[in-house]
Amino acid sequence: MQNFIFQNPTKLYFGKGQLEHLQNELTNYGQNILLVYGGGSIKRNGLYDQVIDLLRNENKNIFELSGVEPNPRVTTARRGIKICKNEKIDFILAVGGGSTIDCTKAIAVGANSDEDIWDIVTKKANATSALPFGTVLTLAATGSEMNPGSVITNWETKEKHGWGTPFTFPDFSILDPAFTKTVPRDQTIYGMVDIMSHALEHYFHHEENTLLQDRMVEGILQTMVETAPKLLEDLENEEHRATVLYNGTMALNGMVSMGYHGDWATHNLEHAVSAVHDIPHGGGLAILFPNWMYHAIDENVTRFKQLAIRVFNVDPEGKSDKEIGLEGIDQLRAFWNSIDAPARLSDYDIGEDSVEEMADKTVIANTEFGNFKKLNREDAVRIYKASL
Ligand code: NAP
Ligand code: FE
Repeated sequence: MQNFIFQNPTKLYFGKGQLEHLQNELTNYGQNILLVYGGGSIKRNGLYDQVIDLLRNENKNIFELSGVEPNPRVTTARRGIKICKNEKIDFILAVGGGSTIDCTKAIAVGANSDEDIWDIVTKKANATSALPFGTVLTLAATGSEMNPGSVITNWETKEKHGWGTPFTFPDFSILDPAFTKTVPRDQTIYGMVDIMSHALEHYFHHEENTLLQDRMVEGILQTMVETAPKLLEDLENEEHRATVLYNGTMALNGMVSMGYHGDWATHNLEHAVSAVHDIPHGGGLAILFPNWMYHAIDENVTRFKQLAIRVFNVDPEGKSDKEIGLEGIDQLRAFWNSIDAPARLSDYDIGEDSVEEMADKTVIANTEFGNFKKLNREDAVRIYKASL
């Protein structure tokens, strides 16, 4: 385990009825509020009206940015930044899934900067501060509600980049599982795959003495394997929604990843697919992760063996370490198939003709990526081809 400093400043309100705390939170900020949301799910399920009532009760001046798209675009963030500057916005409230929250992070930083937000996302310019913002989460997936990360797409250049700053932790996040009950089946599946993928990205590292960290990450994976089928049987079940929601936050808020660095190559590979084809993040991960694992297993077979035995109950009797590890990957694939997650790029009509373009996108920032196994462009091509 490496030395580490840990601080997560986001205040979490978790559970039924916690939206009532929004009013009190709002007293901490100025009058002009920018409400950011997506394509309208919050209007259909009544959350929009509840939030507007609370804002009005506090006599806030409400400005709105709606239509944040899944895989949020830099053009939308720029629209939000313009509103913040023109209307002297004091506080931003994101109500939605990871896309709405990630876009809000870009707006919050861009509002306080003279630089173009894409230059900050691509690290050509530095963020210096951000407007304060809070979130009301409606979809369990990204962990963006309690981390500083954001993923923004530039549709003109077909690039999708993750970035983050110390200023992009939400001040507070309100998580009521009831708000996630209306998430459709497919988005629920993508979200659960994303959560498991965050756990898996953490899991593949070469650090020693991460005994507790391993158990915590395995705990997230085991809980997801146990709960996902139950939730898909009963999408409105609040207990299962709560379990998945809590898992999503814990999988990427820094709590299980202290003292080591995970791999994260598969997220990079997926961002390149989404950048070119605009597919759901979790769908892309379900296709790519097992193929990255087959590609990376020889880097440290012991990690794969441990995962197979502890999470997927693979019987080690009479098998080599590598056979055990491979069986674990097969089990992950089988589990994701069993919950109807996509398995091949062709499920999204992505064919061989697109492999080179996607591979180019994986190495735009630097020539190698991934911490557990260093990948180059050729590795990316091989993994994409195996995923067709
Ligand atoms: P999302 O893109 O925010 O939302 C997906 C869809 O679900 C949207 O169509 C949205 O509709 C709908 N939806 C959300 N909540 C709903 C509800 N309660 N009821 C009905 N429909 C609902 O999904 P996401 O998986 O949370 O975010 C994906 C993005 O996050 C990707 O760009 C990914 O790369 C990024 N990401 C970020 C991090 C991070 O740490 N920051 C980590 C992993 C991935 P509306 O638009 O109508 O609301
Ligand atoms: Fe993710």
